[in-house]
Amino acid sequence: MRRHPLAAALVVLLLVTALRPLPQLVDAVTGAPPGDAVLVKPFWYLVLAPPSDMLDALTFLSLARAKALLATWLVVLATVGGLSGESWRGRLTRAVGYPLVLVLFAAAAVLAPRPVPYLTSSDPDGTIVDFHAHTEASHDGRRGWTVEDLARWHAAQGFQASYVTDHNVVFNRHVVTPIRLLPGAEWSVFGQHVVALGEVEPLDPALYSRDTPAMLGIFGGLHALNALGIASIPEYWENHRDDLGLFVAEGVDGFEIVNCAPKAIGFPTKARAEVVALARSHDLLLTGASDNHGWGKVTCVWNVSYPESHGYAANHVIARPLAMAQGESPTWTAAVSQGWLMLRTLDIPERISWLTWILLWTIYRDVPRRHGQPGGLGILARRLTVAPREGPR
Ligand SMILES: [Zn+2]
Repeated sequence: MRRHPLAAALVVLLLVTALRPLPQLVDAVTGAPPGDAVLVKPFWYLVLAPPSDMLDALTFLSLARAKALLATWLVVLATVGGLSGESWRGRLTRAVGYPLVLVLFAAAAVLAPRPVPYLTSSDPDGTIVDFHAHTEASHDGRRGWTVEDLARWHAAQGFQASYVTDHNVVFNRHVVTPIRLLPGAEWSVFGQHVVALGEVEPLDPALYSRDTPAMLGIFGGLHALNALGIASIPEYWENHRDDLGLFVAEGVDGFEIVNCAPKAIGFPTKARAEVVALARSHDLLLTGASDNHGWGKVTCVWNVSYPESHGYAANHVIARPLAMAQGESPTWTAAVSQGWLMLRTLDIPERISWLTWILLWTIYRDVPRRHGQPGGLGILARRLTVAPREGPR
């Protein structure tokens, strides 16, 4: 183990974090594991657990923490690369190459196809829904990210239905496979995003963008169209923090309390608790949103929805704990705390997969090699050559 300090440290971390595990999922309202929903990890996700878990952890970063994590690790990797090796040419190559690997890995988190975990619910009355997601019809949606792409993205993660809520664009197409897509829109009005759910008609956001009283009129406007108006809180939560009572008075139907977009995933737990208390006392809906724009392969939140119920009881918001923790740890610790949180969320099969990969890596590194050959290739070289016989001269 002394010959492999990195592997030894990882094994210790895997054991220590197993003593303080985080649940696979939490109810965003109670913070406790949900009783009726399970996160299923496919076979290849588990076999490839180290990259799978690290790509998920890179996806569930707030914007500020993503910047801190990348900046720290780029400096660390460039320094380690620049200090290892004999020749200046080798050191320079490593000083550039190591950080480049991280950049490529981060790009893979956003773009690379891979197996993803999916949610199942044991409650026959519940439907797994996303309340807020985008296509290329949004100004900031990924080019080429079609309605069909969005439906497949949701289906792979266990969703049975999703509202399509493009920015200031009404969705009203009829799509039922692989999952049902539901009509909606996301209106940007005076420092507030309002998610409209239902057969919405186009409306003029300028009417509601003059000031706060004008903005609050959108809830009545949506009701006149037979649509629900949900205030998306996580991204711009500070803008109208003191106005939420007025939102209720003017007819808001609910609040979005978890949102996976990098700008919104850092919504602080304390602020969320205030919104939850308000919704509870007025029997309003609480929702979670992937807010997918075509980037990233995994959602941090699902909803188990009960269409027969109304208001507060009509929906359970179920999230990955790594996402819920983004507003808690200080930003500058991201390079360490994100890895620590990720290791705490591993289940037993993932830990076994990690340990197996570490074992394989150390065996590979330990294979005896001939002078001048790169590490690990010696096993081939030894098989192909006959060692010179040694004898007395
Ligand atoms: Zn959005």
